[in-house]
Amino acid sequence: MRSNSPARRRALLAMAGLCLSAILGTAQAAEPLKVVASFSILGDIVREVGGADVSVTTLVGPDGDAHGYEPTPGDARKLAEARVLIVNGLDFETWLPRLTKASGFSGQTVTASKGVKPRAFGSPGEGHGGTDGHDDHDHDHDHDHDHDDDHKQGHHHHHGADPHAWQNLANGVIYARNVADGLAAADPAHAQAYRQRADAYIARLNALDASVRKAFDAIAADRRKVVTSHDAFGYFGDAYGVTFIPAMGVSTDAEPSAREVAAIIEQVRREKVPAVFVENISSPKLVQQIARETGAKVGGTLYSDALSKPGQPGATYLEMFEWNARQLATALQP
Ligand code: ZN
Repeated sequence: MRSNSPARRRALLAMAGLCLSAILGTAQAAEPLKVVASFSILGDIVREVGGADVSVTTLVGPDGDAHGYEPTPGDARKLAEARVLIVNGLDFETWLPRLTKASGFSGQTVTASKGVKPRAFGSPGEGHGGTDGHDDHDHDHDHDHDHDDDHKQGHHHHHGADPHAWQNLANGVIYARNVADGLAAADPAHAQAYRQRADAYIARLNALDASVRKAFDAIAADRRKVVTSHDAFGYFGDAYGVTFIPAMGVSTDAEPSAREVAAIIEQVRREKVPAVFVENISSPKLVQQIARETGAKVGGTLYSDALSKPGQPGATYLEMFEWNARQLATALQP
């Protein structure tokens, strides 16, 4: 009995070692990095870059409006379990700081728009002058449109940086890079895989960027004007040379006055704006009214701040962008 015991102990130790490595091995293979993305477009970028190494949950889902979002207890639970939170930044997710605090989230936060040149609302082509996407937008602006003195132009001007930076594919490239860097920092074991997937994805973004550019270059500059619901396409307009006239302000909950609507209608007539577009996240009523009263055609639905549901035309960032560009270019053809 006694002579057996060292051998038995060795055998038991070996078994324990096997079990332990089996458990660790399984855990590593079966447990992807838990990532929360604040809204659907970011969620898709994270899926592209993260592949099977991540499990992604989004807070504001397809066709959802992130501007006036009210987080749920489920969102807090998702965040509590996550190791990485990917946000747009540029004051887009105003509801998020309170949620992260309440959830006890202790992981890393990645700002996808970091390094984007922020664009100021209401000044086409004019950025804020800053280049790091960080220090040049103030957090004091109160989203109060009452003091707005731009009513004669027919639309609200928001004060601060425009958050809709994903509406330029060159910014999408920056988002993909930031996502890859953030995932790599949180999960160094897969850093190379994140960077490789990001490179492949960025090549697709760049190819689409080139074809979108070509499509709009082929349209006469004075026809490249459309009305949309809310002020979400400023980056798109700057990048591809299209003037967007927002019927509402920056936010989807800003109701324009009758006078403002009349001013837009007057502008559409005067400038012979060929088409108006509804958006997947906001009510089509106002845009339809403008079309009725001006004779401009309704060009279809654009995906502004959210992807479509699966099976619809804008289910991924690339599909959404290609769809938007095609709807716009088709409507602006003579
Ligand atoms: Zn928006």
